[in-house]
Amino acid sequence: MNQRNEPTFRESVDLMFNRAVALMDLPPGLEEKIRVCNATYTVRFGVRLRGQIQTFTGYRSVHSEHMEPVKGGIRFATGVNQDEVEALAALMTYKCALVETPFGGSKGGLRIDPRQYDEHELEQITRRFAYELVKRDLINPSQNVPAPDMGTGEREMAWIADQYARMNTTDINARACVTGKPPNAGGIAGRVEATGRGVQYALREFFRHPEDVAKSGLSGSLDGKRIIVQGLGNVGYHAAKFLAEEDGAIITGIIERDGALFNPGGLDVEAVFNWIRGHGGVTGFPDAAHSAEGAAVLEEDCDILIPAALEGVINLQNADRIKAPLIIEAANGPITAGADDILRARGVVIIPDMYANAGGVTVSYFEWVKNLSHIRFGRMQRRQEEARHQLVVDELERLDRYLGDAWSMTPDFKKKYLRGADELELVRSGLDDTMRTAYQSMHEVWHERDDVDDLRTAAYLVSITKVAASYRAKGL
Ligand code: GLU
Repeated sequence: MNQRNEPTFRESVDLMFNRAVALMDLPPGLEEKIRVCNATYTVRFGVRLRGQIQTFTGYRSVHSEHMEPVKGGIRFATGVNQDEVEALAALMTYKCALVETPFGGSKGGLRIDPRQYDEHELEQITRRFAYELVKRDLINPSQNVPAPDMGTGEREMAWIADQYARMNTTDINARACVTGKPPNAGGIAGRVEATGRGVQYALREFFRHPEDVAKSGLSGSLDGKRIIVQGLGNVGYHAAKFLAEEDGAIITGIIERDGALFNPGGLDVEAVFNWIRGHGGVTGFPDAAHSAEGAAVLEEDCDILIPAALEGVINLQNADRIKAPLIIEAANGPITAGADDILRARGVVIIPDMYANAGGVTVSYFEWVKNLSHIRFGRMQRRQEEARHQLVVDELERLDRYLGDAWSMTPDFKKKYLRGADELELVRSGLDDTMRTAYQSMHEVWHERDDVDDLRTAAYLVSITKVAASYRAKGL
């Protein structure tokens, strides 16, 4: 990116951290300890593919071990480098602290274009990378627990979990070494949709605060709001789909690698998603205006902009031209520090990444707990819930008998009420609760402190305070 004095991604995260920490009263030593990345491991390994040895470069960075295990995804992309992985690991530290998942921050990456390899080759590469990380305790249920990120998903997590289990045959907690696994391999319902779902819950919570909505110049509810989404990957797809289907938002623009689609009347997210699957991009999709220059659509008129792809897409080059009054960072680091200054000065409200995309790690936490407890998630709660419901039903039955023909409990009510919540419902409600609570904590700081005029700084203040408290408790 480095044009027009743009800092690197890691420097950008540090600049935002510094802006917040300047408003706090931390001892300088502690401030430095929290900011720096503890360690980054680089590995180069060879895999024999198509008759030749190919060398791959991978990283696992540990930003902060104030809580263990440390947590964060593994990215497969050609642009992966040490600076990026360290920035992403730092964001994991702040994100986990903000939403109170009891983890330190970490991140991994492999420099690879996964589309260049078939499934069998990818499995060999992933297993070999996992082997290198397991060997050094950089994958371990009690020390470092990866998850999916860009370019990886359930399939890769299943390979990683299996690789760890093969190398640790007596570890009863082996399944908890990685999250984002398929449900039939120790995963949890609702993990795939979790980050997009979290974006939806974050926006719903924002719109429950009319005074915050007013700061962006918008008003009312999500219903009818015009949204442009950049990146229809796992996060962008789920966020756009849920917002359109459940909240009445209109997805007017979708930006992808090969260009963008625009339709003021609203795009059918499911149809676009299926088109991309079948055709490798948005090109040729009917029922929409096309733009070959995808990035330009970021600057189109809309109510809410959702960057859900790479870091640094809103930068010093285009920040001036962004028209959206509200931006929610579904991706990690989509707005550079310089662009953040420009947008803030213009009064644009930014719902920051460490909050907006925390749905993924929140549900990862549920999965990890489920794996460690060796019991179906929520099974205990469900039993308790059912016992409580039974008491109510018993009382209603008594009333039913007493009232005779005047009133009777419908069998449908009884059946539904006694059922209790299933795993997916529990995961969604736990996620919703997390997103609401975390928003409240940022909101309070934003409104109560005169020196804080944006949600990102508020988020950093909340999260750094928590990380500092853990370091203090440890005696550091
Ligand atoms: N890669 C995701 C993130 O950036 C998820 C991390 C996790 O679940 O550990 O937050």
